[in-house]
Amino acid sequence: MSKRSLASYRSKRDFSASPEPYGRRRKAGKILAYCVQKHLASHLHYDFRLEHHGVLLSWAVPKGPSLRSADKRLARQVEDHPIEYGGFEGIIPSGYGAGIVMLWDRGTWEPLADDVDAALAQGELKFRLFGEKLKGEWVLVRVKGYGNGDARNWLLIKHRDEWSGDIDVAAEFPLSVKSGGDLEHILASEPEVWRSHQPARAKALRAKNAGARKSRRAPRKPARSR
Ligand code: MN
Repeated sequence: MSKRSLASYRSKRDFSASPEPYGRRRKAGKILAYCVQKHLASHLHYDFRLEHHGVLLSWAVPKGPSLRSADKRLARQVEDHPIEYGGFEGIIPSGYGAGIVMLWDRGTWEPLADDVDAALAQGELKFRLFGEKLKGEWVLVRVKGYGNGDARNWLLIKHRDEWSGDIDVAAEFPLSVKSGGDLEHILASEPEVWRSHQPARAKALRAKNAGARKSRRAPRKPARSR
């Protein structure tokens, strides 16, 4: 099972009302994206995302990652997200996941297994992170279910290495790697997505993300060759 689908992600969202991207598949390159988004929704959690087969595998980590190798952080696997979601920081005004999203960490990752799908199926994925905050070796281990079990529960654990340590990384480094601000700052800074009341917000957001560094003009129809 190597095909990943965004159907679940899309089914939970109204893209005429949400600034979140609809999501397009892209061919996975050699460089794989990684990010953590701090998400204040009905409760605060950290969305841990790893690019795989053109989507972002996603786990919601209530307590956030820990650099202490003795800590086992519950990571509940959620629906795959589009790659471009990984750059998103802003406000989800309504619907599923409504709240504030902060880009808490970003970078790249590499699996320490030859076959990621097999590792996921076996319930143990070892990998290396090259983030701005999180680095070094980590593992996601599926929790053996109690009773009827729930295959979506995993543990996120830092391996002992030069990047592990007795640091409460979520508390000591709470700010965005994108804006440098906190959640209140994102809320107060009038995020551009909040302003875009066009019906096709997802499309506008994608265009904005693609052209953000090139132009300050309003998003237009993206060039076909891009
Ligand atoms: Mn979330």
